[in-house]
Amino acid sequence: MSRPTSDVAERAAAGFVEQFGSQAAGRWAAPGRVNLIGEHTDYNEGFVLPFALPMRTVVAADRQDAEQWTVWSELSDETITFGADDVAEAGRVTGWGAYVAGVVWALREAGHPVPGARMAIASDVPLGSGLSSSAALESAVLAALLDLGGLELSPELQPRLAQRAENVYVGAPTGIMDQSAVIRCRAGHALFLDCRDESVEQIPFDLAAAGLAVLVIDSRAPHRHADGEYAARRRSCEAGASALGVAALRDVSVDQLDAALAQLDDEETRRRVRHVVTEDQRVLDTVALLRAARVRDIGPLLTASHVSMRDDFEITVPEIDTAVEAALAAGALGARMTGGGFGGCVLALVEADRADAVAAAVTAAYAERGFTAPSTVTVLPSPGATRLP
Ligand code: ADP
Ligand code: MG
Repeated sequence: MSRPTSDVAERAAAGFVEQFGSQAAGRWAAPGRVNLIGEHTDYNEGFVLPFALPMRTVVAADRQDAEQWTVWSELSDETITFGADDVAEAGRVTGWGAYVAGVVWALREAGHPVPGARMAIASDVPLGSGLSSSAALESAVLAALLDLGGLELSPELQPRLAQRAENVYVGAPTGIMDQSAVIRCRAGHALFLDCRDESVEQIPFDLAAAGLAVLVIDSRAPHRHADGEYAARRRSCEAGASALGVAALRDVSVDQLDAALAQLDDEETRRRVRHVVTEDQRVLDTVALLRAARVRDIGPLLTASHVSMRDDFEITVPEIDTAVEAALAAGALGARMTGGGFGGCVLALVEADRADAVAAAVTAAYAERGFTAPSTVTVLPSPGATRLP
């Protein structure tokens, strides 16, 4: 996670001038996100609790008369152009441009007259680390196109549209959490999302006021068989729900857990079910503590979530476990892997003035084991997608 050399919004605006020879009409930003707690609960119709990161993707944009979209990204220093034919059907634009074309496609499919546009994109959300650079890109583009076209689409409906762009046009099967978080999160809050009915509630999560911060550690672990393992976990959960006669594991409460486990013959399925049921409860417990402004007290829940992912769901890897153990040993109040597993990021709840020491301890533990050095960044809950002044 390299730190930007200059402000992302300035780079997007300057990129626009350089590419297109005029000033952009405006700039729209959308953040990355991290899930505080609630892992592998989404497809079990349970609960998640993401918050928005200070790292963000900014689109500087203006209309153009032709039904054409010309898009530059600082990332590859590449300009792509696509027209109406390319957004008539999903999948025609490939590579990173698919995330942009997908938004145009999804808007048009929903009946919105999308204006042609020129866009310049800059970002400091790390790509492919599980911090949702994809949803940040889609959501910033969506915000820009809505404003440029004077189109009305309520914040409640925007996540679904951006998700369709990614699921159908790009072809990446992801749940509703990423786009919901990126679009609907607020500074100083986490977003309590019920994945069954997609209802959301803003939960106060004012780390700064509590003298705390979250350290995000990119494990740099190579993703090992993540897709196949993910599919296997989903199958176990479906098998568990079906054996228990419920629509989804969300329908099993912790009070019913022992009785439910006694009905399952397969030891592995029992452990998978136990993770999901206890994880849903940990999200509810975290929400209750945050509502009571007891931010420090959520630490043990974060760590318990990690232990459950490590021992019951079996989705962690040595780099991830090392980061969690080292962070806790260095005084983190709680730490856990975040994201689908087999790599990705760890988050640690830390006293703000201990963040550097915890990061250093994790880096040292990595060096001792010969792992590729992790990257670390300290974050606070930040605003969701917005037009910049
Ligand atoms: P994550 O969302 O966890 O970062 P994904 O694999 O879902 O990982 O999305 C990463 C992809 O999104 C990149 O490979 C690239 O195609 C696209 N992307 C994200 N941000 C940008 C950007 N600023 N410029 C160009 N492409 C981007
Ligand atoms: Mg993504």
